[in-house]
Amino acid sequence: MSKFHSTINRRDFMKALGITSASLGAMGMASPVFHDLDEMSQSGIGSKRPWYVKENEPGKLTVDYDWALMKNPDQMKTMHGGGFLGVLEGRNGFCQDPNSTFRQTYGIQRSQEIIDKAVQILHDGAATNRPGYQVRDLALNAGAVTVESLPYYKAAAGDAGRRNNPKWQGTPEEAAKMVWTAGRFYGASDIRTGEITDQEKVLFFTRDLHNVPIVFEDSEIGYSNSTKRVIPNKKYYSISVAIHMSKELFRYGYSPMRYAANLSRYRQWRPIQMALMNFISTLGYDTLGYYELMYGVIPAEASALLFGHSEISRNDNFLISPDWGSVQGYFTLLTTLPLAQSKPIDAGISRFCNTCKKCAESCPQQCISYDNEPSWDIPNSKAVPSAPTSYTTPGKKTFHTDAIACMSQWVGTAMGCGFCMGNCVFNVNSKSMIHQLVKPTVSALPILNHTLRQADVLFGYGLTPEGDFEKWWDMNLPVYGTDSTFNSTMGGYNK
Ligand code: SF4
Ligand code: SF4
Repeated sequence: MSKFHSTINRRDFMKALGITSASLGAMGMASPVFHDLDEMSQSGIGSKRPWYVKENEPGKLTVDYDWALMKNPDQMKTMHGGGFLGVLEGRNGFCQDPNSTFRQTYGIQRSQEIIDKAVQILHDGAATNRPGYQVRDLALNAGAVTVESLPYYKAAAGDAGRRNNPKWQGTPEEAAKMVWTAGRFYGASDIRTGEITDQEKVLFFTRDLHNVPIVFEDSEIGYSNSTKRVIPNKKYYSISVAIHMSKELFRYGYSPMRYAANLSRYRQWRPIQMALMNFISTLGYDTLGYYELMYGVIPAEASALLFGHSEISRNDNFLISPDWGSVQGYFTLLTTLPLAQSKPIDAGISRFCNTCKKCAESCPQQCISYDNEPSWDIPNSKAVPSAPTSYTTPGKKTFHTDAIACMSQWVGTAMGCGFCMGNCVFNVNSKSMIHQLVKPTVSALPILNHTLRQADVLFGYGLTPEGDFEKWWDMNLPVYGTDSTFNSTMGGYNK
């Protein structure tokens, strides 16, 4: 492997100083010292998986995908893409643009009524000091996100930009470890990497949210204009970034405070994306990131599944990590830097969802499936049965969530939803004793899933549909959290 320096073995170094194992014990509290990225990367601080998490072969997920059936999704048609249109113009709620796919599908008048009602709820909440809707609660939500656009493509820095140093060279394994270390330093909770295969090119969106086609072209750099958004024809690797959100606030119903937790990942993603782009450009490679605060050219959840952050849940719009549970944000940065392959995982989570239906029971719109087995068939929306299901793509054997009914809930609260994520059995503080037992058991003994679901109800974890807003403001948040509320900002150094 490449080395920028020479180090001697740490034990020999200590011996040479005459420090014995007894005195080492006394020094046990001393912080480790790293001299450069090589040393940090080799220090073994990469995230380690619990013993029960198995790795599958690349491309093999815990639900079936038929790549022949899949087709490139249209971002203008997805409910959380084109459905949201107008979300950033003013802060009164979602889908302000009448051209939003949701407005067009649900009906302009019908959707305007729920938008108006939601705005009224916010105004009334602030006027009457309703807990969770007070001005400070709304302010927390407003501060949780920034809306400036991001650089879309960053080419490798030229010689001068690299201070005339050579382009970085190393193995994909070294590169992945280095990117993980740098990404954690910039604030990512965890990073997984891997190659985007030709088969997986079907994941790229066909249009961006400006109604501009996304096209591959023989171009040196990526760019966009009013007619096209260009992805250069190059080999890409994915940097799949997980960012913690507040497990605690996700339990706080539909309030602005829960939404603050939801939005916080975008604010955190912005500097992480920009930092990683600068980092990789200076190594001498290209990056292709989000072109807008919330939107990139490939669904982030696909990378999170393919490269082993998590498994898909009963609501096929969110994922569950065996390490961090159901309340995680995922982002994808593409790069030309060759990166080692992290494999998809099997921790028994998707199988657990086959029998656990807690999220379906708690969904206010009843739009999560109650079926016992996932299916290839996409059912029509119960909210608008005649609408085509073009907001999702075929080729996935999952439980298919009714995305239109779900979006009506998001619009109707003006603060989104995520009740299912907050109430999921896996939205727990990872050190909770019952879940140290539950998680390996769901992996090894699916026959006990029902019993464990009952145990979860019994022990009451994850069952806090409404939060105590006053108490949250009065909490003395620790600098390094107890893996709950403060996860959202400390980049996960608490496990
Ligand atoms: S986000 Fe809310 S409405 Fe949508 S599926 Fe989850 S609980 Fe149901
Ligand atoms: S609540 Fe149960 S069924 Fe729903 S996503 Fe969580 S584990 Fe799966």
